[in-house]
Amino acid sequence: DLGKTFSDAGGLTLGKTPSGVRAVDGVSFTVKRAETLALVGESGCGKSTLGRLLLRLIEPTEGQVLMDGVDLTGFSRGDMRAMREKMQMIFQDPYGSLSPRRSIAQIVAEPLEVFGLVKSRQQARDRVAELLTRVGLSPTFMDRYPRQFSGGQRQRIGIARAISVNPQFIVADEPVSALDVSVQAQIVNLMQDLQEQRKFSYLFIAHDLSVVRHIADRVAVMYLGRIVEIGPKDRVYDHPSHPYTQALLSAVPEPDPDAPKTRIILKGDVPSPANVPPGCSFHTRCPIAEAICKTQRPPLAQTVLGHFAACHFAKPNPIPVAPRSATPA
Ligand code: SF4
Ligand code: MG
Repeated sequence: DLGKTFSDAGGLTLGKTPSGVRAVDGVSFTVKRAETLALVGESGCGKSTLGRLLLRLIEPTEGQVLMDGVDLTGFSRGDMRAMREKMQMIFQDPYGSLSPRRSIAQIVAEPLEVFGLVKSRQQARDRVAELLTRVGLSPTFMDRYPRQFSGGQRQRIGIARAISVNPQFIVADEPVSALDVSVQAQIVNLMQDLQEQRKFSYLFIAHDLSVVRHIADRVAVMYLGRIVEIGPKDRVYDHPSHPYTQALLSAVPEPDPDAPKTRIILKGDVPSPANVPPGCSFHTRCPIAEAICKTQRPPLAQTVLGHFAACHFAKPNPIPVAPRSATPA
């Protein structure tokens, strides 16, 4: 039931009463060990805020964050510092997230030094060499500076830094959206290989569904601070239950250009999080909205096992059961 209200959000509330921007509104979900949960939604829907709340880079207004059953929200700064060894972040902007004045070796070794995982400079350099190799970069790069690298290479450096301490959980906030399309798949594949090897979990934040199809185990779709649909990847892609997810999916290009597909165009823009519509917050743009949607907020309800949607008209979509006679021996 995690929530975050920014009391003064600067530009967001310009011209409006700064009554508070509800960036994250009572969100609950779990991420399992070695799992990738993709968190998808348009910019401004609160997904980055949610990612930062999980790592306590910002403080929640209410709710809890549990790591292995332990509530982190009461942790002091000191306690949280120790917890950061288990929880790391990969940032969206491979330009802004690496200090231009520090060498690659200094950047990647920093978490190792902070957590006392290396005893000497040489040991730190040896670890950095291993990590750079692991993310597909030559260790001979270690004394260079971020500006000497391409966007994709910088993101590899950011990944090396995040995995250096062997975390259990990584928030990756749009890790490929600043990169050329040709490089995106390489980075996603690298992230997936590392996960298979090290069994950590990702919260993989993305603004569209095409990027996460490959890497996600489950998908959560966010709209105006709330999760409107969450479920196993194949269920969400093949049987989207929420009209918003259906519209997002209709915009994903099909690999087969002949495959029939009707693009659902949503009317209007996403309303400001300073002014969330009452009832179902999607009603101002929903193609199938009815009167009830303007006044009653739909709960996130299960449509089939493990697949939830927050829509008054989400239909249960039964999982097809194989005929008994076809059961393999
Ligand atoms: Fe659309 Fe109503 Fe469902 Fe909201 S509750 S998504 S407005 S049909
Ligand atoms: Mg963001």
